[in-house]
Amino acid sequence: VTDMVDRARLAARAIADFGENLVRPTVRIGVTGLSRAGKTVFITSLVHGLARGGRFPVFTPLADDTILRAYLAPQPDDAVPRFEYESHVRALVGDRVWPDSTRQISELRVVVEHKAGAAPGQTRTLTLDIVDYPGEWLLDLPLLGKTYEQWAKESLALSSTGPRAALAATWHAYNAGLDPVAPADEQVAITAAQLYTDYLRSCRAERYSLSLLPPGRFLLPGDLAGSPALTFAPLALPAEAAPPEGSLWAMMKRRYDAYKDIVVKPFFRDHFARLDRQIVLVDVLAALNAGPAAVRDLEFALASILDCFQVGRRTLLTSLISPRVDKVLFAATKADHLHQVSHDRLEAILGRMIERAANRARYAGAEVDVVALAAVRATREARVRCNGDELPAIVGVPAAGERAAGHLFDGEREIALFPGDLPADPERVFDLGPGGFNGLMASSPDDAEFRFLRFRPPRIERTVDGLPSLPHIRLDRVLQFLIGDRFQ
Ligand code: GDP
Repeated sequence: VTDMVDRARLAARAIADFGENLVRPTVRIGVTGLSRAGKTVFITSLVHGLARGGRFPVFTPLADDTILRAYLAPQPDDAVPRFEYESHVRALVGDRVWPDSTRQISELRVVVEHKAGAAPGQTRTLTLDIVDYPGEWLLDLPLLGKTYEQWAKESLALSSTGPRAALAATWHAYNAGLDPVAPADEQVAITAAQLYTDYLRSCRAERYSLSLLPPGRFLLPGDLAGSPALTFAPLALPAEAAPPEGSLWAMMKRRYDAYKDIVVKPFFRDHFARLDRQIVLVDVLAALNAGPAAVRDLEFALASILDCFQVGRRTLLTSLISPRVDKVLFAATKADHLHQVSHDRLEAILGRMIERAANRARYAGAEVDVVALAAVRATREARVRCNGDELPAIVGVPAAGERAAGHLFDGEREIALFPGDLPADPERVFDLGPGGFNGLMASSPDDAEFRFLRFRPPRIERTVDGLPSLPHIRLDRVLQFLIGDRFQ
């Protein structure tokens, strides 16, 4: 019954969207990525550039003056919070601090007025609905095709591999003492869920930077915190074929199914299935720094993400409706931590990570590409003399409170650094040890050496027309890929 209701709602929504699109040509762009990948900064900078006249030479419709102006319009979906664009711009441009990160879904509508290609002298509009949502939610979609038994088995197996084994030790020890066929006990479920969440959270820590950590709401619970749909954990499969009604196992299974019904399906139906284009932001540098386990984990996570875009044509979600995303861009963020000689290398590494999965997606009809970008470029490049040699360096202001090499920074002093070198051969990233590729490490008592030094956002620049513009790297290539074809 739920499926039929879902299908009916999806069909109604698709028809409404189609009708709306005839009156008002619209592109729904999904922006996702795991926590701290750079979604908030990306959307803020992109919209600022479009609305205020950023420097986007590679984005043809803007460079050849097809686009006349872009402006914000009221957010269309009543049940979705608006992306807090104004306060984020104030933080970035006014206070020069990084804005608050994404914790949930939000949306922003931008209307772009442009010349009509076929009818000189006439203008048209293209509406961009930008939907910002946590990548953790996307990585939940594969759960729709898994029973509790399958999920529990897979999660337990995964938690015994690589660095996960040590991080899961407390939870494993507690699990070992549980009898899945014993009567259901709320306190046991609460403790198991808590320990399981602690394990997921420590995998997420910068020092490990693991990516594949569903269920997503365990890390970002929002208003569901403490509800039964979030109070379950994987149990080892009991010896008997069917654990009885009222057992701990049966309780966990019921709650897992509730999670899918209450959290995953509505996300799919109300948001994911309505997207036209998607950008997935990836903090590749953080994974490289954390070492091969994080790189491999990221590769798996990216493959699962790509699978989400072709499921409609294949198996599990066919019963709902096929997603309509026809372009997916994977973007390695924060490229301003590297010298430009490494930007193409960063792209090659990300390309290598999604290679196999991308071939499948292409086959299924979606165009896939990769880019290395900095939504806001917090550094500039310089050549620094060192022992008689001139070396490529980057220059920036470390954010207040950052520490490196025994210094505590005040957010005002500019320093020059030699960024780490990425390997020219993308295969080599699997050989890098923890501490990665000699990137710029920050040090702090509790987070020793495993973190990039955070720079303060830059001062705003002026374009030749005197318009305020945030410096960036390759943001125009992103626009060209995502919407460059929509200005006819
Ligand atoms: P979200 O959780 O995906 O919304 O991530 P945010 O957009 O809040 O970014 C997380 C942090 O990454 C920011 O606070 C910045 O420190 C850093 N960051 C994001 N984008 C950039 C960028 O383009 N350049 C630099 N240098 N840092 C960035």
